Amino acid sequence: MSILVVGSVAFDVLKTPTKEADRVLGGAATYFALSASFFTPVNVVAVVGDDFTQADRAIFNGRSVDLSGLETARGKTFRWGGEYSRDLSERTTLFTDLGVFEKFQPTIPEHFRHSSLVFLANIHPTLQVDVMSQVRSPRLIGADTMNYWIDRTPAELREMLSRIDVLVINDEEARQLGGEHNLVRAAARIREMGPSTLVIKRGEYGVLCFRENERFATVSFPLEMVVDPTGAGDSFAGGFMGYLSTRAVLDHQAVRQAIIFGSVLGSFCVEDLGTARLARLTRDEVYERYQEFKTLTDFASL
Ligand code: AMP
Repeated sequence: MSILVVGSVAFDVLKTPTKEADRVLGGAATYFALSASFFTPVNVVAVVGDDFTQADRAIFNGRSVDLSGLETARGKTFRWGGEYSRDLSERTTLFTDLGVFEKFQPTIPEHFRHSSLVFLANIHPTLQVDVMSQVRSPRLIGADTMNYWIDRTPAELREMLSRIDVLVINDEEARQLGGEHNLVRAAARIREMGPSTLVIKRGEYGVLCFRENERFATVSFPLEMVVDPTGAGDSFAGGFMGYLSTRAVLDHQAVRQAIIFGSVLGSFCVEDLGTARLARLTRDEVYERYQEFKTLTDFASL
């Protein structure tokens, strides 16, 4: 049992109203791997430059994260900068320097090809399809995407969507992809494109999930202090897929519980800058907050 994730590993510049840093290890695959590793071994396929040091790798020490698919290419690691508004509701991208990520051609090592679950983080949809052609019948394939690909590569995106089981995107992307402002209608349109399960992340408002004849909604965990929303979505996906990989049957109950574990990981992620909170998070804290979630959202058994 293991999960394969393919996506970005980056150095981020982060500016939030309370904290800043100019070289934080980030990237979707990093947040995903840290979060999913609470549940299951994670196999990472990504590329970094020759500026990526042993100290940078150390964030994964002591976790079941296999970095043998982390390729080092000549050049610079992908860099991304983001600045948040005072109330954290808006994010401005300061810059995106693709570096070695520009020529990223994921090659899945032989020993990763049997991973039971696969998560295609936000990369070019053609690369996502290419990864799918390299793996051997996983139990479930999940994917993320972003407005950039929805706008610029619609045909390639359609091809990707037709082959996956679960799409995990945010509400803005769901509206754009579904061509409808109403999320219920947008979800129906997106599910016609392929993914039988659609998970829509709504930031501080929680998560909506549509699958077969089942719908599920939850709030996000109420926090007294949010420091940095960067990576919350990728942490959600890591918790969601990581927990799913521990379940024998991927039924509605498993998906609902996975959504809560995803929300738990997302909520911890935003408590500190970049990956700082995930790096010191414990399994006990994860399960404790999962229990708090149960009490928080229970209205029937009191
Ligand atoms: P999120 O907050 O979920 O949007 O994820 C933020 C992370 O995504 C940061 O750590 C960035 O390094 C990474 N990121 C930003 N832009 C891109 C992109 N175009 N492709 C891949 N990863 C990106």
